[in-house]
Amino acid sequence: MLKKLLPCLVACLALLTTAGQSVSTEAQAADTPNIIVIFADDLGYGDLGCFGHPTIKTPNLDLMAAEGARLTQFYSASPVCTPSRAALMTGRLPIRSGMCSDTRRVLFPNSGGGIPAGEVTMVEALKEAGYATACIGKWHLGHLPQFLPTSNGFDSYFGIPYSNDMDRVNDAPKGRESFWNPKVEYWNVPLMRNFEIAERPADQTTITKRYTEEAVSFIEKNKDGKFFLYLPHSLPHVPLFRSKEFEGRSLRGLYGDVVEEIDWSVGQILDTLRRLKLDENTIVWFTSDNGPWLTFNDHGGSAGLLREGKGTTWDGGMREPSLCWWPGTIPAGQVNAGLGTTMDIYVTNLALANAARPTDRVLDGYDLIDMLKGKTGSPRKEVFYYRGTRLMAMRVGPWKAHFVTQESYTGNNKAVEHDPPVLYNLEVDPSEKWDVAADHPDIIDAIKRAAERHIRTVKPVPSQLEIPLK
Ligand code: MG
Repeated sequence: MLKKLLPCLVACLALLTTAGQSVSTEAQAADTPNIIVIFADDLGYGDLGCFGHPTIKTPNLDLMAAEGARLTQFYSASPVCTPSRAALMTGRLPIRSGMCSDTRRVLFPNSGGGIPAGEVTMVEALKEAGYATACIGKWHLGHLPQFLPTSNGFDSYFGIPYSNDMDRVNDAPKGRESFWNPKVEYWNVPLMRNFEIAERPADQTTITKRYTEEAVSFIEKNKDGKFFLYLPHSLPHVPLFRSKEFEGRSLRGLYGDVVEEIDWSVGQILDTLRRLKLDENTIVWFTSDNGPWLTFNDHGGSAGLLREGKGTTWDGGMREPSLCWWPGTIPAGQVNAGLGTTMDIYVTNLALANAARPTDRVLDGYDLIDMLKGKTGSPRKEVFYYRGTRLMAMRVGPWKAHFVTQESYTGNNKAVEHDPPVLYNLEVDPSEKWDVAADHPDIIDAIKRAAERHIRTVKPVPSQLEIPLK
């Protein structure tokens, strides 16, 4: 009898062992997903179909929203490029790393500074946790070798290292003319591969397409291991470029063509994940570095119902059209109004990757995974709105108090101090139209005290943006 049962027992035990292994591999895999962060440049809150744009068609981003979470109160940490990217990469307000300034708002080709070596970048932490890593796109955290992505934890880099409107050549038409009729030659920006310049001027008409091809190829090459892909698009920052296939497609004109090509790109990424059966093991974030550049008229985007745009601490400058997608883990079809910021992407990604979090410094992010799973509200209760080193406004729950307001780039550009602060309830009044300060002195007092507590945690560090190129 025992002889008869033995083979069966062995088979059962083998099955149990295999099942156990498979469960543990799956659990491990599910515990540490692949991570993709897609970061648009100057895309406004109102520029996607799923965020209400009537004539820009974004079927791929709309599908990503339908299959995941649309985050309606999600912020960048700054209304301009360099500080915003520094916060995403470090999980810290830019004032803590010195990646902001009151005199030079971003890094330029004649800047000698960049992301300090002492910062623990998201990618360094993920690399340490065993991830293959690639940065494809606009870096803007320093273009000297020691600041480039490949000196900050990325295995490879392909992209334009700063804004696509920099290195404007002297014989380009003056004023806005070169932006309205953009030619690749007007901007002598380099396209880099790792530490080398691969092309100059970069052919920006095919830049979105080439970033996408690189991204798909990176995913394919790393399909069997864990990977982190950071894909910060150079567009729709002005000057606007798109490839032949997208010329004249959008009812919204050139700007719409550019956004529709980025939408196509997102579709390519998600389709690649589906094709390789990685979709249930990959978290994909989509957001933007700052609001739309409104002074460029129809070449700038739209903040939708939000006030103002890029460069300001009104919500239009910092609240971003944001999505998070992870089929099977993040419930589909969510419209999630929980508060979030790009610094939370840092903390959430490190937690998902089981990566070690730096403990010797202040981090300004929260782990949002339970919120994204629909299990809880957001652990974040506050948002800080900085312009350079100055705390202009603070949000606590639905309440936003402006201590100082300043318009973006043109017109009345003087800082105006408010005492008492101007107060809006952003959940009732997302357009910041109705100052309710007089009705809520207690809320103003509480926000002022919270702002003072926050400022005490900020240690002054030298600005990296003010270091000239030697
Ligand atoms: Mg930007």
